[in-house]
Amino acid sequence: MGVQNVFRDEKVAVPLFQTLFPEAQIHLTESAASGIKYALEGFGLKKNARVGVQAYTCSSVLGAITAAGLTPFFIDTNQNLSLDTEAVMSKVAHIDALIVTHTFGFTADIAGIKAIVPHLPVIEDCAHALFSQYEHRSVGTFFDAAVFSFGNGKFPSLGGGGMLVINNPSLNERITKRLSTLPRPTLWQELKQIVKSYAKAVMYAPLPQWMINKILSERYLNNRNKNIISRGNQEFKIYKSIELSLSAKLEEAKKNAVVQNGNGTSLAQMLGRNYEFLTADPNKVNYFAFVLIEEERDRLCRYLKEKGIMSGKHFQHALTWAMAYGYALGSCPVFEKQVNHILTIPCNYSVSKRDLNRIAHYLLEFRNINPQ
Ligand SMILES: *Cc1c(COP(=O)(O)O)cnc(C)c1O
Repeated sequence: MGVQNVFRDEKVAVPLFQTLFPEAQIHLTESAASGIKYALEGFGLKKNARVGVQAYTCSSVLGAITAAGLTPFFIDTNQNLSLDTEAVMSKVAHIDALIVTHTFGFTADIAGIKAIVPHLPVIEDCAHALFSQYEHRSVGTFFDAAVFSFGNGKFPSLGGGGMLVINNPSLNERITKRLSTLPRPTLWQELKQIVKSYAKAVMYAPLPQWMINKILSERYLNNRNKNIISRGNQEFKIYKSIELSLSAKLEEAKKNAVVQNGNGTSLAQMLGRNYEFLTADPNKVNYFAFVLIEEERDRLCRYLKEKGIMSGKHFQHALTWAMAYGYALGSCPVFEKQVNHILTIPCNYSVSKRDLNRIAHYLLEFRNINPQ
């Protein structure tokens, strides 16, 4: 990455956009959450209008809804951790817009939901779902707008940035105008970002992370991601350094998604009926993570940690976050039951076949000791 390029102000061409979203207009944004905010603003809803959203999501999504002057309205999820179609049906009269999340890259019931909300503006949250497909079409092409994230812990992880995909021409006009008024990050911010992403790249390289997490206490790990993320007041364009790296990084991610898909499929085969996990069939998933739904989640997490395998309790604070945004206890029973049972198992492109076999071995060993 040449620092001098950060000064240039040309638009960067990303050929993959044409393949993934042939009909859409693409805008790069500072984050996926800010993309949600701009799309919601562009819908032109009245103040405090209700946006249907699942509670099992990133707190920054809820922050984006309120930053747009709107109110989250929580709708329950299904076994695949995405919006439950029946629940959408029963709540549709109460909402003015909807966010459909492809959690962990596993596609939501797009056809079912589309049939219920033809009259409402909808955003697809594809923060986990780059290269996932629904009926042979890339996610992000099915509703008015979609967001993707390149932040830390996303696929690909570029240390920040996001993408807003617009499929509705009149919405695009309003959003283009709005985005053109945003300031660019200052040179100082650009430089800080380059240093930060370099440090993160070293720290989050697969092997050191593996070791670091082994040393960190469970208490620290549980509390690390508790804070609510709100970027409501942060308004600027995507970092130039991220924009410049995007084209190459996305090509790389496309290949990595194929490897991950192989990893996820093979882990699913090895675990068979011994575990409950999210499955992709008949659609295509990027296997950004392999997701178990496990009664004994916390014990399993500890067991794997002892073996040097780092699993993740993704969005483990989602209930606390949702309550901070007005969630009423009992309103989404499936979500409340599942939120403490979700464990993500590493299956990303950097996990070797040998490690994958080891992971499956210990998972099956745990199951032997703790039958379902
Ligand atoms: C991380 C995340 C976001 C927000 O992405 P940012 O680029 O960090 O704003 C939105 N939705 C989901 C489901 C996420 O996990």
